Amino acid sequence: MDTSDPSAAARYPPATTLADFRHNLDAVQSRIQAACQRADRDPAGVRLLPVSKTIDEARIRIVHAAGCTFLGENKVQEAHAKWQAMADLSDLRWSVIGHLQTNKAKLVASFASEFQALDSLRLARTLDRRLQEEGRSLDVFVQVNSSGEASKYGLAPEDVAAFVRELPAFSALRVRGLMTLAALSPDAERVRACFVLLRELRDRLRQDAPDGIGMDELSMGMSGDFEMAIEEGATVVRVGQAIFGARALPDSHYWPADLGA
Ligand SMILES: *Cc1c(COP(=O)(O)O)cnc(C)c1O
Repeated sequence: MDTSDPSAAARYPPATTLADFRHNLDAVQSRIQAACQRADRDPAGVRLLPVSKTIDEARIRIVHAAGCTFLGENKVQEAHAKWQAMADLSDLRWSVIGHLQTNKAKLVASFASEFQALDSLRLARTLDRRLQEEGRSLDVFVQVNSSGEASKYGLAPEDVAAFVRELPAFSALRVRGLMTLAALSPDAERVRACFVLLRELRDRLRQDAPDGIGMDELSMGMSGDFEMAIEEGATVVRVGQAIFGARALPDSHYWPADLGA
């Protein structure tokens, strides 16, 4: 059964050639610049993280040729397999942006350059131990559940301050800031409220962040809402479909389905 969203398919035609990717990347960068201009922000302060989940190796090699050297993947096994398959692309780095079970921390520690979904001390401890064993360190973002939806991963906003105070114990984790998925809602103001919550939380945490804990970054915004996220302070936007085209898999494959729905 094809459960993909037909409106997404119309909005995001598939990119397959180098010209397609250049076109889509230019279009997304122009939208980033326009959003920065509206918000009186420097575009250099917003990093575009292309999200290549479900995209096969051949197309990833093309997007790499179009200039993308840092890619986001939701699932660690998928990311690891791609890292292995494309080890010949020596400048290609991977960010794992999806929920991670503690028993897969070793895999992330072995190859990832960034992990954006830190949400428990158990995971922090295990990741740190595995990284120490590998002699590596990792940029991490603390994932916050900004929508209040029970189906979303991440820490409750009120638990983040105490969590962050524990993180200096894990010296292989370089904490950079916060990450969130906004409410999946047609109501723009509900979506915006998630971004505002994350920014205000970051601003409060930054005032008394422990030594060595970075609280500058805000990873928020995807294909459907990255401009609004930039207006509210995003420093990293995670964009898949607007670059690669609509995905065949529904988002519920990557995010737990709404419990009550
Ligand atoms: C897939 C994904 C994105 C990108 O979503 P698009 O709709 O493809 O832009 C962003 N963040 C996370 C955590 C994702 O899994």
